[in-house]
Amino acid sequence: MNPSQDSPATHRPRRGNWQLMADINRNLVVNVLRTCPVMSRADLSRATGLSGPTVSSIVADLTNRGLVEDLGQGISSGGRPPYLVRLNEKANFVIGLKLMGHAISLVITDLSATVTYAQVTALLGPAAAQHQASGSPALPRDPRSIIDAICEAVEQALCSSGVDASRIIGVGVGINGPVDATSGVCRSSPTFNWNNVPLARPISERLGYPVILENDANTLAAAEQWFGRGAGIDTFIAVAVGAGIGSGVVVNGQLYRGADGAAGEFGHVQLSDTGPLCSCGRTGCVEAWASDRAILRDVRAAVDEGTKTSLGRAEELNGLTIGLVAAAAEQGDELSRQILSQAGHYLGRGLAMLMTVINPRLLIISGEGVQAGHWRFDPMIKAIKASIFPDLNAEIIFATEPLDDARWARGAACVVLGEIFNAPTQPSLVQAKLG
Ligand SMILES: [Zn+2]
Repeated sequence: MNPSQDSPATHRPRRGNWQLMADINRNLVVNVLRTCPVMSRADLSRATGLSGPTVSSIVADLTNRGLVEDLGQGISSGGRPPYLVRLNEKANFVIGLKLMGHAISLVITDLSATVTYAQVTALLGPAAAQHQASGSPALPRDPRSIIDAICEAVEQALCSSGVDASRIIGVGVGINGPVDATSGVCRSSPTFNWNNVPLARPISERLGYPVILENDANTLAAAEQWFGRGAGIDTFIAVAVGAGIGSGVVVNGQLYRGADGAAGEFGHVQLSDTGPLCSCGRTGCVEAWASDRAILRDVRAAVDEGTKTSLGRAEELNGLTIGLVAAAAEQGDELSRQILSQAGHYLGRGLAMLMTVINPRLLIISGEGVQAGHWRFDPMIKAIKASIFPDLNAEIIFATEPLDDARWARGAACVVLGEIFNAPTQPSLVQAKLG
């Protein structure tokens, strides 16, 4: 509310409070416009609870900054004709990247998260990419070369897309493994063999934009919240199943990062004191039992021990992928079925714990690992039902579908948009300004 017109304030607030209230009011208007393409000023007033003069003043300011388009008078339905306005979604743009071991997927989106440009930049040659895809241990990578590659990909995208560089208001970078989004430090990356590598600051200093580094499962959750099945759902979990296992948790409409940015890392919940070695250095984690990497490891170990499988002999398993294991299971291969089922069971055990703590309305399963299909996910659902706290409301949807890399990159852009449209009372990771 504008205190001079709407508030029965009995004392004069400090200047900082006035500014914060103005920011909150403007944020209210922008967020209502974001969800409704065209609105009259009167409807905006009703939707925000702000007075007509306050809405007019904010709309005038936003119009001056190019963020709102004044569409003039609409058609009257009996009374005075409405004055229509809409958010100018092309006023600003954000860049989202998914950083993978073998490539960078990059998108540029407008303020409604609509992709206006996409590109993929290779980071590895074909032989090294095959090594990466086979689930073999990651090769160590020099952070400086990856930072250079990210910056060059952004510069190339700006050049090729024709988007005015001055209209870019932030860059989101998604990477797997735990990330401290506040400091922009990659805490641990099994893909790159990194520990505590600062990424956001060097990229920001070189490009001149605010940069948010985010765990890729959180970018997945942001994507689901902005343009996927999580839209309009207050509390949900988006699970990424692939070489690793992680999740992004949205609670009360906000991405929940936890105190150190490691919330949702249920892949490192230990299900047993003993068990297979995990990428985190411990044993018996969900990820060590249930990830794609674990499945490929178990298939190879069983074949080495002489178990018969239609997947081939040990020397033929160099190019083994989760898709091949799933196809073999579909064609009746008993070893593939057994290992997928075991992985699904442990995934379900881990998810039951996460769901018991968070009590989500919706659970979304995504990532490369969904290729394994029902041989993996039927046992997962069975294990969830057997292990979850029984009093939970079980209206949970299991949605399994493969994701393309551009969707993850778009999710990284959505993390930036989420921060920009965040209420001014919420802590923000970026100081980006619209308009
Ligand atoms: Zn672990």
